[in-house]
Amino acid sequence: MISRLLMLTLMCAHDAGAAGGVSNYTAERTDMVTRQIADRGVRNERVLSALRKVPRHEFVPDSEKPYAYRDSPLPIGEGQTISQPYIVALMSELVRPEKSHRVLEIGTGSGYQAAILAELVEHVYTIEIEADLAQRASAVLRSLGYENITMRTGDGYAGWEQHAPFDIIVVTAAPDHIPQPLIDQLKPGGRMVVPVGPIHATQELRLLEKDAAGKVTAKNVAPVRFVPLRRRDD
Ligand code: SAH
Repeated sequence: MISRLLMLTLMCAHDAGAAGGVSNYTAERTDMVTRQIADRGVRNERVLSALRKVPRHEFVPDSEKPYAYRDSPLPIGEGQTISQPYIVALMSELVRPEKSHRVLEIGTGSGYQAAILAELVEHVYTIEIEADLAQRASAVLRSLGYENITMRTGDGYAGWEQHAPFDIIVVTAAPDHIPQPLIDQLKPGGRMVVPVGPIHATQELRLLEKDAAGKVTAKNVAPVRFVPLRRRDD
């Protein structure tokens, strides 16, 4: 009798938590990975488990939390967006991340893609042009305990010379051409993924590979829509 009572109390406590909005969205996240990502062909197990682990809802404003696991980008303030989960997964898989890699990301935004990458590699350097967003992302990443992410505010067009070269470069805002400094800061054997194309239109997601001799080849992967890469004096 006592144990049945206890169980009932525990069940009520659990339900009360969920009804009060204190959910960690585990079921939504698992579902997101299966339906939106694995079913669309992303196979890299480390990438899938990073997406199952990182609490995407922590990276969006309170008003967007109920929609955090939807199959779409979401507004994060300052006219910017957190990318659709599938695109984050696709970009992460394309660059073939390894535990020992050092990564440069351009366009920290909410910090979500940086967190996913931080689960997969040794260190992530990330640059955000919008100071308010950088500040918010930095607070979230700190609260979640990420110690292998270094962030700065600025124009990422010029990359981050001080920490170059990088094994991987991930650009999450769209330039109309691939910035030469980023190509220069890619290690031989490295990969860069970048949406390239006209502002406020569909862009092409491009994958660049630099071979051991420094020769760069590129291919188009998919049509995508990203916010534009802005320059400092825009
Ligand atoms: N990776 C982000 C989504 C990025 S949205 C995430 O996971 O949430 C693109 C971001 O790039 C925006 O926050 C925008 O302010 C930023 N951005 C635009 N131009 C930039 C530039 N030149 N340098 C650095 N960041 C830039």
